[in-house]
Formats: sequence, C-alpha cells, structure tokens
Amino acid sequence: MEGEPWIFINGSFWPKSQAKISVFDHGLLYGDGIFETLRAYGGKILFLTRHIERLMAGARAISINIGQSAESLCQILYQILAKNHLGDAYLRLSVTRGEGEIGLDPALCPHPTIIVQARAFSGHPPRLYQEGIRAELVKVCRNAPKSTDPAIKSLNFLNNILAMQEALRAGAREAIMLSHEGWVCEGSVSNIFWVREGILKTPATAVGLLAGVTREAVLELARLSGIAVEEGYFSPEDLAAAKEIFLTNTTYEIMPVTLLGQCPVGDGRPGEITRFLLQKYREKIPQFLAEDESNLVRPAES
Ligand code: PLP
Repeated sequence: MEGEPWIFINGSFWPKSQAKISVFDHGLLYGDGIFETLRAYGGKILFLTRHIERLMAGARAISINIGQSAESLCQILYQILAKNHLGDAYLRLSVTRGEGEIGLDPALCPHPTIIVQARAFSGHPPRLYQEGIRAELVKVCRNAPKSTDPAIKSLNFLNNILAMQEALRAGAREAIMLSHEGWVCEGSVSNIFWVREGILKTPATAVGLLAGVTREAVLELARLSGIAVEEGYFSPEDLAAAKEIFLTNTTYEIMPVTLLGQCPVGDGRPGEITRFLLQKYREKIPQFLAEDESNLVRPAES
C-alpha cells in the first residue's frame, strides 16, 4: 500500500498493515526475546556497534541463536532506513525466540523471529530540555540480577511497565527504580545520573541495571571534560540531596530532571553540568558517527 511504512520480518519487507507474526511466537507468548532501540541522525545510526554487541550478548545470555552476523544485522537496519526514506529516525530491532508450540523448552522454537521497524524521529520537544521533566522514585524495584538480569535488554518488560505506571499515576514522566537491595538503580527506560558536591554520580552496573549505550558515552564525555565521576552504590538519600539530575537513553540523549517527586532538584532548572554535557554530546554526534566502523556497512543505494 502506498505511503505505508515498511517493516522487516525474517528476510522480507512488508507494508505495516501486512506485517504479521504468528500467535505462537514466543516473543508474544512469553516475552521471550531481546531488542534494541537505535537512533539515526542524517541517515547514520549512532553507536551501532555498541547496540549490536549488546544485542548479541543478550542473545547469548538467553541462548537464542540469531543466525545472522553483526554485519548482516547492520545491513538490515540500513535497508529499513533506505526503504522508508528516513534520515533522522528511531529504529527498533527485536529478536524473539520464534514460533513454536506452547511450552518453555527453547527447542520448541528452531528459528528466531527478527523484526526491524523504523519511523521518523528527530528528538523530543525542546521544551522538555529547557524545563526538565519530573521523575518519581517508585515502589516497584528493578529485577534482581539473579532473576531476569537487567543487563539483558529483554522483551520481558512488565517490571518496567509497572514502574512506569506508578510514575504516570503520580504525574511524572519517568520512574526511578531502586535495586532489590535498596540502591538507586535506573529508570524504566533510562539510566540515571546526578550531581552532588561537584561530583557526577551514577549507579555502577553491578547494582543490576542495563548498561546503557548513552550512559557509557556520557561517562566517557564527562571524564574527557575533566568532570569528577563516581560509579557506585548510592542510597535514595544521596539522590534526594542532588543539585542536578539527568536521565540518559538513545532517544532522550541527556534529559534534565527538575522535579523528583514533589521536590525541585537544585533551583528547579536544568543544572550547569547537565546543560554542558548535553551540548557536548550533541556537538560530538558527527564524531561519534564517524568513529563507528559499523556505519561502513551502509548500503550504497538510498
Ligand atoms: N535502562 C533501561 C531499563 C532502558 O530500557 C534503557 C533504554 O531503553 C536504558 C537504560 C538506556 O539505554 P540506551 O542508552 O542504550 O538507550
């Protein structure tokens, strides 16, 4: 159908209205699978290598044999951009256990399902960056690493959905979860940073969180800029005493938080270090794109 977005499923492109998978897909039946959210700027995908490496690591952790090389996954992502004539875009790559009879044995699903979709996206409204958003410390805690390990970007997102529901009910845009041991952990779709006494703090990955690709880039950027950085185990009281808070993810980049629950963060406006890092991050995007070798797999045609 004319004008419909194209979706990739297992080697074929389908118009959105015809893009279908089986009701026996274990991604649907059990949330059994992994995914990545990626972002393209001017037709190039940011941190493509890191996203694909994380997907591959997740697949190994849950014993899914994707059956595709990293290069061919990169090719597919670029094909979906080209097919949909997209430059600035949001991309989603999902890999499920595949279709199989009901039951938990992975052997029931011999072939994974690979789905890639994309849509135009050139960032969240500037107002959010000027004013900052409200985040809520929620009661739902992050999965313990010995349970569904948060390091795996799993399709099984119910825990995060429950956390987000709690935040939305409180009038906030994002939920901040504690670990099952009570340490500040991460957002439902983001990693968290804050500034206290001039030090940029973020929970260590060992707390049990998703090692965000943006988190990693922001840590590198902060260190390069001479900002003191501490990764560790932090209490909610430490967070509550922050002068600045921000969240990171692929689509947010760096999103200031100016209200934590009912309490203004610092003077209630995006802080100096937050604004500095956001500006630096945006300035460096062309360099990040140029440095990422995976972008070389881009198909020639557009
Ligand atoms: N933590 C969680 C739970 C997430 O879902 C996400 C992204 O969706 C992130 C952190 C940030 O990850 P990234 O920076 O790789 O987008």
